[in-house]
Amino acid sequence: MTFDPSLEQQDPEMYALVRGETQRQFDKLRMIPSENYASRAVQEAMGSPLNNKYSEGYPRKRYYEGQQFVDPVEELAQSRIRSLFGVEHANVQPYSGSPANLAVLFAFCKAGDPIMGLGLPAGGHLTHGWSVSITGAYFNARAYGVRKDDHRIDMDEVRKIAEEHKPKVIFCGGTAYPRLWDFAAFAEVAKSVGAILVADIAHISGLVAGGAHPSPVGHADVISSTTHKTLRGPRGGMILTRKDLAAPIDKAVFPGLQGGPHVSQMAALAVAAKEAATPEFKTYAKRVVDNAKALASALNDRGYALVSGGTDNHLLLIDLTNKNVTGKRAAKALDAAGIELNYNSVPFDPRKPFDPSGVRLGTPAITSRGLGPEHMGHVAEWFDDAIKSEGDEAKLGTIAAAVKGFLKDFPAPGIAL
Ligand SMILES: *Cc1c(COP(=O)(O)O)cnc(C)c1O
Repeated sequence: MTFDPSLEQQDPEMYALVRGETQRQFDKLRMIPSENYASRAVQEAMGSPLNNKYSEGYPRKRYYEGQQFVDPVEELAQSRIRSLFGVEHANVQPYSGSPANLAVLFAFCKAGDPIMGLGLPAGGHLTHGWSVSITGAYFNARAYGVRKDDHRIDMDEVRKIAEEHKPKVIFCGGTAYPRLWDFAAFAEVAKSVGAILVADIAHISGLVAGGAHPSPVGHADVISSTTHKTLRGPRGGMILTRKDLAAPIDKAVFPGLQGGPHVSQMAALAVAAKEAATPEFKTYAKRVVDNAKALASALNDRGYALVSGGTDNHLLLIDLTNKNVTGKRAAKALDAAGIELNYNSVPFDPRKPFDPSGVRLGTPAITSRGLGPEHMGHVAEWFDDAIKSEGDEAKLGTIAAAVKGFLKDFPAPGIAL
């Protein structure tokens, strides 16, 4: 046998970095709403020799030999995802959420065609046609927004823009929208202008799978998603659709946009789909939302201005203008205090995206560790203390130590120290 050293032996420098990050993920309240803890089983599948295999094509229609185990891997991922979401067709090959959206556009549009999505400043995603994205540069994109008074999507505006712009594709879904999506209302608009409706459920796919957010199935023509956010799977993407749209979607993913699929990622997605089909995951999804609502109410009591007044899902957006601190300064203070989140624009933000007025946070990862609504008062207190201690490194360090001590009792899925 040849000497095949472990990571620790082969590359101590990288091993130390991985160890450091693993410890950091254990010690902090991880509240970036797009992040989570993938289970040990998911990580094992990701880190397996499936990594070594090339499998261009689809099951039973490959270009390379040796697919005896890969075909069942991909078929298992497809069938578990189909039954989890109740859809006719699942493409599990997109490398991540952004390529999934680009593939959808490639399937239904030519360069320069009109498309529509929620604007980035209102909580939309770059890949829904924002100017700096390829989806904004190569397609003729118009954005809809949210209302100034209640920060909700204005379906009258959506309809008006759709009628003027005649988009081929309408995206609904976002990254910083704390309210439920009315998929039926979007479907009606899309139908009336002959557009393909794409529900991008990247953030909420775990909530949809667990029954804690209404499903777009039956309303959207196509559903795109990441697999690593509330779904707790591997880094990856997927596209769900009806039988009649399966062919153009599959062709757009391969050979349209991608080469060989990441087999380890598809295997890990199959594992995550099995986990997400359990009663425990239903409880998890509901608890993510319960925690977000409890946290919203505790922060509201402390005078924080929540965009839209609260949340219906896993995330909160806070406008810090009344607290006299910018989003970036707050995010850095919170990070030093052991609470990890991101600075974020708020709707109609007068400040620049790189130094905006708000922060965005969510409950998917802390709920995976077993925190419940009874703990959200604590979290709000640490949050508030950290904001008030901005600039006082010693005080922030004290809060971080308290957070770390508290989290010792909450095992993190997939993390062994
Ligand atoms: C995260 C996200 C994406 C992009 O996913 P990546 O895996 O980061 O490429 C796309 N759409 C929405 C709505 C997202 O939240």
